[in-house]
Amino acid sequence: MAQVGQNFTFRRDGRDFVSAAYPNTAGERDRWIRARRPARHGLDPLRPFACLTEQERTDSGEVVSVATVFLTNRECPWRCLMCDLWQNTLTKSVPAGAIPKQIDWALKELGAARDAGCASAVRSPGFSRSVPPKGGTTNEGFALVVRSSGFSRPVPPEGGTTNRGTTNAARPRQIKLYNSGSFFDPRAIPPGDYPAIAARVHGFERVTVECHPSLVGESTLRFRDLLAGQLEVAMGLETVHPQVLPRLNKRMTLEQFSRAADFLREHGVALRVFILVKPPFLDEAEALEWAKRSVDFAFDCGAAVASLIPTRSGNGALEALAERGEFSPPRLATLEAALAYGVGLQRKRVFADLWDLEKFSDCDRCFSKRKERLERINLSQMNEAPVQCRRCVDLNSARGRPTGRKDGR
Ligand code: SF4
Ligand SMILES: [Zn+2]
Repeated sequence: MAQVGQNFTFRRDGRDFVSAAYPNTAGERDRWIRARRPARHGLDPLRPFACLTEQERTDSGEVVSVATVFLTNRECPWRCLMCDLWQNTLTKSVPAGAIPKQIDWALKELGAARDAGCASAVRSPGFSRSVPPKGGTTNEGFALVVRSSGFSRPVPPEGGTTNRGTTNAARPRQIKLYNSGSFFDPRAIPPGDYPAIAARVHGFERVTVECHPSLVGESTLRFRDLLAGQLEVAMGLETVHPQVLPRLNKRMTLEQFSRAADFLREHGVALRVFILVKPPFLDEAEALEWAKRSVDFAFDCGAAVASLIPTRSGNGALEALAERGEFSPPRLATLEAALAYGVGLQRKRVFADLWDLEKFSDCDRCFSKRKERLERINLSQMNEAPVQCRRCVDLNSARGRPTGRKDGR
């Protein structure tokens, strides 16, 4: 594990800069993280900032269409080190009725795309959960995307292009309402809107929302009771690494996570768990080891799904850590190995988040095949033989990495 260092100076473009060490206390960390943020995007509170449909494997083994609506709402109150979701949030709470209106808009647009037989209709430069819109566009120019991969924090492709997935004309049977924070934060999603939200998602078999463990409670049950379908709550476990988790500034312990998971289970609410593959401060081998342990922990907590998210830079803080040698994104091989481990357990479903996957690849010769393989594994939940690539073997041996005999590259 990387040692958290001291301040140091470095020279760039003929000028000296001080690289401030990542602080040790929560308040200082908040300030350090905020100070490195790029600009927030301007958003319309009456529109979701994105929506899409994708295919996902269900608990029963079916592959179904799932709609995801990325709700526009007030920023989450936490300041996690790796988080960039705040970029597509507001500084103020949305007015009563705005969230139901956003859902109406998304369902209408997704329905129109489906009726038109489109796999994708992107109306603006793309933006994402992780990456800002190119050119800082607002959600007035809206991205509507239909994709076919099985990842759980899906995002539109960038640049306004059409999707590269298969046409997915089936009516979605499940819906995710992701709000870049906690659905049960009353300053994000007004509780008075729960009945109107529930009415809009009445026809869906499963409704997934996301929430920090400390906000899971009575309001979760109030919302559950309004739904016709199964409620699922997605919580970010991130990592079970005992030193890295506190440094992520999520202000959550494993005990708190586990208690919230127990509460959900006791009340018939399903659990989806987000796990970071290679959070800051870990090298590649440690990252794989701790991703595996985090998957184990998620399933021990009763998760129905463990979703592996490769840690992406883009929020300013991770770039600052990268300059200090305390963060680098995972290699594709690490994500592949983490997924292989989770799927191999055959406990519950494990998905790899495949958006922007090329960022994690250093070989364009095998990348497409490797991505397609991961898409298939997401949907089948069956491991497949690794993609063989002579060039990767040569690259790895030149760099002194394992030659890939174990993972076939
Ligand atoms: S709790 Fe979630 S949304 Fe909030 S800052 Fe942390 S990662 Fe981001
Ligand atoms: Zn290769």
